Amino acid sequence: MARTHNLGFPRIGAKRELKFALESYWKGQSTRDELKAEGARLRRRHWQDQAGLDLVPVGDFAFYDQVLDMSFTLGNLPERVQGFHGDALDNYFRVARGRSAQSAEEHAECCGGVAAGEMTKWFDTNYHYIVPEFTAATEFRLDASRLLAQLEEAQAQGVKAKPVIVGPVTYLAIGKAKDDSDRLALLPRLLPVYAELLETLAAQGVEWVQIDEPLLVTELDADWQHAFNTAYHHLKSSRVKLLLATYFGQLAENQYLAANLPVAGLHIDAINGRDDVMPLLNLLPSYKVLSLGVINGRNIWKTDLDAVLDWLAPLAERLGDRLWIAPSCSLLHVPVDLASEHALDAGITSWLAFALQKLDELKVLATALNQGRAAVAAELAANRTAIDARRHSPRVHNPAVQAALAAVTPALGRRHSPYPARAARQAALLKLPPYPTTTIGSFPQTAEIRQARSRYKAGALDDAGYKAAMQAEIARSVREQEALGLDVLVHGEAERNDMVEYFGEQLDGYAFSQFGWVQSYGSRCVKPPILFGDISRPRPMTVDWITYAQSLTDKPMKGMLTGPVTILNWSFVRDDQPRSVSCMQLALAIREEVLDLEKAGVRVIQIDEAALREGLPLRKAQWQAYLDWAVESFRITANGVADETQIHTHMCYSEFNDIIASIAGMDADVITIETSRSDMELLDAFDDFKYPNEIGPGVYDIHSPNIPTTGHIVQLMRKAAERIPAERLWVNPDCGLKTRQWSEVIPALTNMVAAARTLRAGA
Ligand code: GLN
Ligand code: ZN
Repeated sequence: MARTHNLGFPRIGAKRELKFALESYWKGQSTRDELKAEGARLRRRHWQDQAGLDLVPVGDFAFYDQVLDMSFTLGNLPERVQGFHGDALDNYFRVARGRSAQSAEEHAECCGGVAAGEMTKWFDTNYHYIVPEFTAATEFRLDASRLLAQLEEAQAQGVKAKPVIVGPVTYLAIGKAKDDSDRLALLPRLLPVYAELLETLAAQGVEWVQIDEPLLVTELDADWQHAFNTAYHHLKSSRVKLLLATYFGQLAENQYLAANLPVAGLHIDAINGRDDVMPLLNLLPSYKVLSLGVINGRNIWKTDLDAVLDWLAPLAERLGDRLWIAPSCSLLHVPVDLASEHALDAGITSWLAFALQKLDELKVLATALNQGRAAVAAELAANRTAIDARRHSPRVHNPAVQAALAAVTPALGRRHSPYPARAARQAALLKLPPYPTTTIGSFPQTAEIRQARSRYKAGALDDAGYKAAMQAEIARSVREQEALGLDVLVHGEAERNDMVEYFGEQLDGYAFSQFGWVQSYGSRCVKPPILFGDISRPRPMTVDWITYAQSLTDKPMKGMLTGPVTILNWSFVRDDQPRSVSCMQLALAIREEVLDLEKAGVRVIQIDEAALREGLPLRKAQWQAYLDWAVESFRITANGVADETQIHTHMCYSEFNDIIASIAGMDADVITIETSRSDMELLDAFDDFKYPNEIGPGVYDIHSPNIPTTGHIVQLMRKAAERIPAERLWVNPDCGLKTRQWSEVIPALTNMVAAARTLRAGA
């Protein structure tokens, strides 16, 4: 008998109930007890939703982040929040969100202001966790109260509970040693706390514990491999059975290690790591459970149940009771319930599965395996119909797009002349001063903009009214930029709600859900657009706005686009073709927009690739293949223009060392990057030899309301000029300004322009 289980459920709620409860509590509009009650209500509902499974995750619910919960469980709080006098939940939020001294008046003297914990992406997902902090002196102390309370709650509700925890090796690996000490040296201190935790759970009658070690799908050096052996040998005498869970990728060379750790069961991602399965069947000791993640926990597509069953049935025969089936990873990464969707048309809806539908699929699979396919003949037939419909739909397959794709040649991605010749032509045409100033694209999204947009969406504002409102905003931002004395202007992106959604809405092949929210961090959610079909651009998307903006000024106006790699990486994408193919289709569509902008007289065009780096695969060995097609997609998008047209790209992150050759290969005339927080040191990656074109290193952090001083900006740019020849430097903020107020933007940019003038004067 194959058993079913789930690795984790999206705690945010089908209608983002947790988000609203959190934000209301943070604003002081509800009490802590009300927040806790909402948490309990969501847990109860989600356990009921999973009641048909043989084992249900417990402890996957977190008010902010499951990794931060683990830090609390292990007693690993940053020093700066120790000694807090208030409620434990409030202290937890202090670590998660930080708190300024003013807002914690009662504790201002003792434990008032604290900096928020650093956040970073959970493996290759768009979920951000709070990074555990370590020093050589870190001690751990068990606080199982949260987990035990949830367990008790679950047991009282008759839930077949399987507590879920982050494993010790992954926990150390994803944290940061503040003093640069060796995190692995903490393992001997950490393991007794894990052992105690497992004992505590055993004492509560727990049989299985899921211990997440996704680190096993990454490349491990000998020390980390050894740490796995040490850790699980230490924990092997525990009275609970451990299900070691790996996901998001392939074990590959770690198969032997993973198969032989002394645990009772191993879960693997049988979507991304399908090639592990056959070798594991031979490697896995015969007492162990093998849990196969056969439903994709990272996308929103229906599973082809026939295909999975054809593959799974012989394995089930071979493994018998040792086979468990599950989603590939926690369902945290998908929206909750497709049944809430009414805006999507029925055709596309019939191809999709959100968390609840994925659990239904799992049950159908289990029934088919355990009782024969006839027992679920109707479900399988319905699934087959949907899978076939999608496979053959003319909405998915567009012969014109496929023909265009087949005609792509590398020549399409090459500029006519190399950079030095282009730079000379562009300089003659644009006549910019040294240290030219510009911004990254967006200006503040004011209350008026948001109001106009929501009235337009609600039908209270007609096309003409909306256009007039947006044009007024564009005119305002042009006026402000002229007054500031900036050199290359932007239109300000008033008309864009989001840099991906704006383009997705205008491209054929995209659909939008109403409630397809996925937690990004804390109470923040994203609603990735759904790329379901071949991509084409029925009409220009930005030309009218940009030409309107250009008509208001003699200064060059930058056309502003989102690049194909970023659109891809921030969407739910097709699973019926490689990502590289979808990306190239996006590239061809955006290329048409680039060429239309050029035709309309726009001389400078920026193509943002904010998410290029985050698309890097988990394993370094696969990086180059990704970078090759990502860069090629960008080149196809950008490089059809004449030498005189200046192409900019923008990336808002600060780790370039390992990908600089690829970034240079994009051959943009100008790249603007985030640098201010790294004190320009990151420009070392861009020095003369490695990065040949122009660079705008961000001179101030747009995430902060602080106004940078002229002196500080001058100093940063001088540092930059030690690394990059001055004639190739631009002056700009780190990123777009949409989250700021005009009252912050004006003084900051005033100082930035003043700094550029100082630099030009050579003073
Ligand atoms: N052009 C975009 C903006 O200014 C870029 C945003 C980003 O890089 N994340 O808002
Ligand atoms: Zn940015």
